[in-house]
Amino acid sequence: MPVDLFNTKFEQLYKKPAEALASAPGRVNLIGEFTDYNNGFVLPCALEFTTRILFRKRDDNQVIVHSLHYPGECDKFSIDDEISRGDSQWGNYIRAVAYVLKRQGHLLSGVDLLIDSTVPQGSGLSSSAALEVAVGGVFNHLCQLNLSGEEIALLGQEAENDFMNCQCGIMDQLVSANGQKGQALLIDCQSLTTESVAIPEDLSIVIVNSNYPRKLVDSEYNQRRIDCEQAAKKMSIATLRDADIKKLNAARSAMSDNEYKRAHHVITENSRVIKATQALKNNDMPKLRELMTASHQSLRDDFEVTVPETDGLVDICQEALGDEGAVRMTGGGFGGAIVCLCRHSDIDKIKSAVEKHYFSRFNIQASIYVGKAGDGLQVTVL
Ligand code: ADP
Ligand code: MG
Repeated sequence: MPVDLFNTKFEQLYKKPAEALASAPGRVNLIGEFTDYNNGFVLPCALEFTTRILFRKRDDNQVIVHSLHYPGECDKFSIDDEISRGDSQWGNYIRAVAYVLKRQGHLLSGVDLLIDSTVPQGSGLSSSAALEVAVGGVFNHLCQLNLSGEEIALLGQEAENDFMNCQCGIMDQLVSANGQKGQALLIDCQSLTTESVAIPEDLSIVIVNSNYPRKLVDSEYNQRRIDCEQAAKKMSIATLRDADIKKLNAARSAMSDNEYKRAHHVITENSRVIKATQALKNNDMPKLRELMTASHQSLRDDFEVTVPETDGLVDICQEALGDEGAVRMTGGGFGGAIVCLCRHSDIDKIKSAVEKHYFSRFNIQASIYVGKAGDGLQVTVL
């Protein structure tokens, strides 16, 4: 929605104009999947798709939330009461952030909020992290908490882990908080240090959402994390960050097949992230292609988080691009999206191949987004 209309909508709902706007982006992960919660490496970029929240401080301690995506539904809670889950599914993300802020001892105040977003929901572009980081930005500004982007990201992750019961790592929130226009962000999830890596001017990021419905996946997702933790334990190391193939093979007999395969993915994926960072710096498409193909295969065979729809989309797009592109699934898996790196002139090849082959093979329509690396969290006073 255009800014002026968005403001008008706020005023209609709350009878007063908004004071400020917080905006946080979704993200696409170029490579480094399921490595973040193993303290490894990831290479995502923030997108120009953002979640925006208009807000205004209230005189009481109520938090009142509307989202343009859920018209007619409003969530309300008091920051004086113990914050627990409410009836609004999406409202819980706002409660979650308020809950962790309160738990850390921050003094919060009441606020009117209106959410709008261009981040597709449930597509693996992390609309949930965009929402958590934007809400973190709101309270940071409103209550003068002086939190850094990294601190807001950690709060968002805690909100998702402890309140929403999804055991995600730090990648999504950190890149949503600290991403930079035109740059990918290499994150060392152990130290949380980051390095910006310019995305070559002639490279396009095309995201194809399989639109395969991700059902009941939280338990699968959380089980992967448990498998990784168990594998690390059996190698007598703190996290899989400290693992290598030698240690893995030495502990193989103590591990279940799944623990072995999950750890094998993480170890090989970490090394692919480092190599892919160099390949991106060199604008080396053949290398990116080799690494992204290997990443996808590892996610399919070792980590077992792909579905025939995302495997099929990767095949369709890779075949259309030939040597001129690199393709893999991206995000939390079990459906969701794939990411293609290609030259601008080849975007149409992806579009026509997906149109021609995907629906006829899988009986669902895909959605295609041409992504650009955008900025992280921003808060603007109106
Ligand atoms: P993903 O993060 O991959 O987009 P999730 O299932 O983790 O998928 O998060 C999607 C959820 O985040 C939605 O179901 C909704 O609860 C919340 N959400 C995301 N964007 C918005 C929005 N614009 N308004 C309200 N809730 C939103
Ligand atoms: Mg999410």
